[in-house]
Amino acid sequence: MFQELNEKISSLNDLFNSFAEIFNFNSLNNDFLSYLNNISVPTNQVCAKTISVAWRCYDCEKDSTCIICTECYEKSEEKHKNHKVIFKSNCSGCCDCGDPDAWDVNGFCSDHQGSFKNDSEIENYINKCFTDKTLLNKIYEKINEIFEKVFLILLEIENLEKETLSGHVITNFFNFLNKICMNNNGLNQIVCMYLVKNFNLDGKILAKHQCIIINDKFDVEFIDNNENNDVNKICKCSLIKLIFSFPVKNINDKLFYNFLHNYKLKNNMGILFIVFII
Ligand SMILES: [Zn+2]
Ligand SMILES: [Zn+2]
Ligand SMILES: [Zn+2]
Ligand SMILES: [Zn+2]
Repeated sequence: MFQELNEKISSLNDLFNSFAEIFNFNSLNNDFLSYLNNISVPTNQVCAKTISVAWRCYDCEKDSTCIICTECYEKSEEKHKNHKVIFKSNCSGCCDCGDPDAWDVNGFCSDHQGSFKNDSEIENYINKCFTDKTLLNKIYEKINEIFEKVFLILLEIENLEKETLSGHVITNFFNFLNKICMNNNGLNQIVCMYLVKNFNLDGKILAKHQCIIINDKFDVEFIDNNENNDVNKICKCSLIKLIFSFPVKNINDKLFYNFLHNYKLKNNMGILFIVFII
């Protein structure tokens, strides 16, 4: 039983590696990174850069934890005229520029204007960028396959109550996501879009857990299905919620930083951190 699970876990790595293979379908025979790099997705919604020095603006911030990076500050300096601004030389966190829940929209820099308001805008944009729809569908298919496999393995581990093992799988999974999304806006947007989507594997996830549904206004709805024996009730959680709800130990939160520039994902993760980690 355990042997079998170990084999499955190592087969995940093969699956991750096989991600690049789909680009052999590309008649131009470009390798996948250069192909996707040619897709220029307009500015990110949120800067989300990891920073150790930061700027606070008492007039623009929505609470005292909000900060922006030096680049964003310099680009938006004009907008903070007559504002009370301070420089913080010792802090850790992510730049909030572009997140209307953290910063006044009038104080955003020119790069982070929240160019995409919702997922369907991102999806439409990506659809327009890919002239080769076969390739795009292949990417979607492969990402689905990877997400599904990772998730089914996590479910299997959960039954065995091996917390360090699920931590290991999630870390590997996010390392893979970080690797493919590094310097690649197009793919990063696709991954972010998937992480906040409802992920019920065509009803394969039974409702015997607490569903947490976060709507577009970031209101949270808890649905406790533990006592619910209605087998027709299916889970409405997003993939990121499902991942957060696995019992894991010592997960490095830096693993998630690359995906925080997506406004919806950033806010979903903030809520999930509060529910599961703090
Ligand atoms: Zn910034
Ligand atoms: Zn900015
Ligand atoms: Zn300001
Ligand atoms: Zn659920």
